[in-house]
Amino acid sequence: MAKRDYYDILGVSKSASKDEIKKAYRKQALKYHPDKNKGDKTAEEKFKESSEAYHVLSDEKRKTNYDQFGHAAFDSGGGQGFGNFDFSSSFSDIFEDFFGDDFMGGGRSARRSNFRGNDLRYDLSINLEDAYKGIEKNIKYTTYKKCNDCSGSGAAKGSKPISCNYCSGKGKVRTSQGFFTIQQTCPQCSGYGETIGKPCESCSGNGKIQESENLTVKIPKGVDDGTRIRLTGKGEAGSKGGSTGDLYLFVTINNHSIFKRSEENLFFDLPITFSDAALGTTVEVPSIDGGRSKIKIPPGAQNGKQFRLKGKGMPILRRSIFGDLYIRVITEVPVSLTKRQKELLEEFKKIEESKTSPVIKSFIDRAKKFWKKS
Ligand SMILES: [Zn+2]
Ligand SMILES: [Zn+2]
Repeated sequence: MAKRDYYDILGVSKSASKDEIKKAYRKQALKYHPDKNKGDKTAEEKFKESSEAYHVLSDEKRKTNYDQFGHAAFDSGGGQGFGNFDFSSSFSDIFEDFFGDDFMGGGRSARRSNFRGNDLRYDLSINLEDAYKGIEKNIKYTTYKKCNDCSGSGAAKGSKPISCNYCSGKGKVRTSQGFFTIQQTCPQCSGYGETIGKPCESCSGNGKIQESENLTVKIPKGVDDGTRIRLTGKGEAGSKGGSTGDLYLFVTINNHSIFKRSEENLFFDLPITFSDAALGTTVEVPSIDGGRSKIKIPPGAQNGKQFRLKGKGMPILRRSIFGDLYIRVITEVPVSLTKRQKELLEEFKKIEESKTSPVIKSFIDRAKKFWKKS
């Protein structure tokens, strides 16, 4: 079956702004969300379709690729297209950005989501080589974990949390002030809806304990500077049965002594002597995989001439293809010449002709014409 155009799916024009795309998707997601259309296959398909469209069009890079190549942009690279698009993981991410916990709230207890544990941030810097190969990193951080002694309830053994009588367990109280009814967090139970008779000694009734956490995290190859990786459930424990928060890894990539990166491509400037530039040579150059490649510089290579080594760039995240390595030749004008070197150059200068320097000749001709006219 032919895939529908992503812009058609969202009902926006190709020139739609980021905001318009977001709005259009939000409308569709609300309409077709599975929670609201239980068992409706068509709605489910529509929901997936619009999510996929949004996944692509909301991302600058993916959108550019799509605008240029259409669906084919995601079909190459060993079938890693959107056939495998993982809704359960990437999708929940998009969704929470949008609607927060409350949207899903229909079935979920609003109270519990209020007591969800905090998300944590961990900044991780890695080398470009690590980003090339992918790496496992050990990280250590401090977090709150569920107290084992009271299973997170905060109540001491033998004692149970009791429903708060002030708010009847709702966690909120309404008070009337003139015409207005104001809803406030219950002052008695601080919104928990229950109070503890005898607090657990290990956690002082908090239900959680501060502990350090050791985690081995897998950084996928192709990761770029600024990539955010979400580790679900690795944040702080929630309170009173609330879910655990997430840990966000913010990856930065250290500057490299040779390579510069722009998305999947790598670049560096290769300095060569002016005699090599004039006579031509073969140079051995490093590549990010640690290997060496030979590039042949033809006689008369001009300053700034660029060479491309196909596939010697960075891997593209979650795809089995690589960017390229671009090498730009920079001619180094020799310095600190010896007497003999100077002599030879002086001699060379005497026999220089206009045909050996066509760019200079062309410039002089243009300058002469210009002076004549003015
Ligand atoms: Zn406890
Ligand atoms: Zn209360």
